[in-house]
Amino acid sequence: MRLSAYFLPTLKENPAEAQIVSHVLMLRAGLVRQASAGIYSWLPLGHRVLNKISDIVREEQNRSGALEMLMPTIQSAELWEESGRYDGYGKEMLRITDRHERPMLFGPTNEEQITQIVRDNVRSYKDLPLNLYHIQWKFRDEIRPRFGVMRGREFLMKDAYSFDVSVDTARIAYRKMFVAYLRTFERLGLQALPMAADTGPIGGDMSHEFIILAETGESAVYCHRDLIELPAPGDEVSYEDDLTPVIEPYISGYAATDEKHDQAAFEAAVPADKRVEARGIEVGHIFYFATKYSEAMNATVATPDGQNVTLHCGSYGIGVSRLVGAIIEASHDDDGIIWPWSVAPFQVGLINLKIADEGCNTMCEDIYARLTAQGIDVLYDDRDERAGGKFSDMDLIGCPWQAVIGPRGVEAGEVEIKNRATGEKETLPLEAAMDRLVSPPPEKK
Ligand code: ATP
Ligand code: MG
Repeated sequence: MRLSAYFLPTLKENPAEAQIVSHVLMLRAGLVRQASAGIYSWLPLGHRVLNKISDIVREEQNRSGALEMLMPTIQSAELWEESGRYDGYGKEMLRITDRHERPMLFGPTNEEQITQIVRDNVRSYKDLPLNLYHIQWKFRDEIRPRFGVMRGREFLMKDAYSFDVSVDTARIAYRKMFVAYLRTFERLGLQALPMAADTGPIGGDMSHEFIILAETGESAVYCHRDLIELPAPGDEVSYEDDLTPVIEPYISGYAATDEKHDQAAFEAAVPADKRVEARGIEVGHIFYFATKYSEAMNATVATPDGQNVTLHCGSYGIGVSRLVGAIIEASHDDDGIIWPWSVAPFQVGLINLKIADEGCNTMCEDIYARLTAQGIDVLYDDRDERAGGKFSDMDLIGCPWQAVIGPRGVEAGEVEIKNRATGEKETLPLEAAMDRLVSPPPEKK
């Protein structure tokens, strides 16, 4: 992408309305603009990041065996009356009346909708297990939308729903999602901690929130320090395996986000030198709710012996748009964003220091074409601007690599490359630089 032809409205000053760093940087780097309270337009740069996150989420959901579909944003109130949630959901639900005076709503979540589809189309245990998901906008009329896209009113969520014939197979579905979540967050460059969460009246151990540690997080975190170090299950673990031992260390290592877990339980479980008490951002939530909606909505299947049983269900959310903010909270410095390679809107920022210089142009065009041909997303700053402004914009938007081309380097056949995360700069012969720019820069020591 040539910056001269792009839409990247960056801001020099910190916007007064933003309280936390991710919100400040998302506005300053031209990722989003507020449309109204808690509702945002995604500008081209932000939209690229949102798509990259969605793609990783999608790949890991598919890999676990979940099937993608797409349900509408607008739902009929009737469905929610069937489940008994229409009145109870309260003011967070945006209620709409159509021209025929039919009550509709903008979906805050999709349990009812998916349960209806499965109820009407799945008759036999032979059609199960099923896990269906979509990546779709939700609306919750949050009382205090804040922190930009982190607590919006309209936000993008991946929500999956599993349907099983028994609690035993539902457990398997739950574990698959657990592993898929660990893998997803790792690929996003995040350390997400699975925290036991309240299951309400259903009880049991089958609800976990996935939390990223951040000072500005809204959730309390109590955990064992070792849990923070656990890597996600690698490719040697297959979804065909029994995943019980794989996720066991995450579940048994103490972690909770519930203020109700009192001090005493935490202290009993974790030795003093291993206690972490911190703040975090909830980026995902997995939940087994058994027959809560299927019973109310009469969703059953026939078992091998001809009985009808009520479906066992779980739901599994990931806050896709919240993740953009959460990743920035986890990865930035005073100069701007530092994108992990996997979600960077552009992996390489190419800076032409003198666009009036033919040699600079030729070298930049060559680098731009060759990296692009290798599948690298390059943002080429070909604007007629001062070098200082180009450097600060590039730092602000946070491409993992920067490549700087000036007349002196061109003469020597050299390129200066900068690792955005460490700030380390190197001047390399063109071909050596090309080799470096196609893979992620080395991490901070
Ligand atoms: P929270 O406790 O933060 O209000 P929740 O428990 O109500 O979230 P879930 O119903 O579990 O949210 O939704 C699944 C995921 O959707 C959450 O883990 C979160 O990442 C994301 N999410 C929920 N509410 C919002 C919001 N208002 N803005 C952005 N993302 C959200
Ligand atoms: Mg939740």
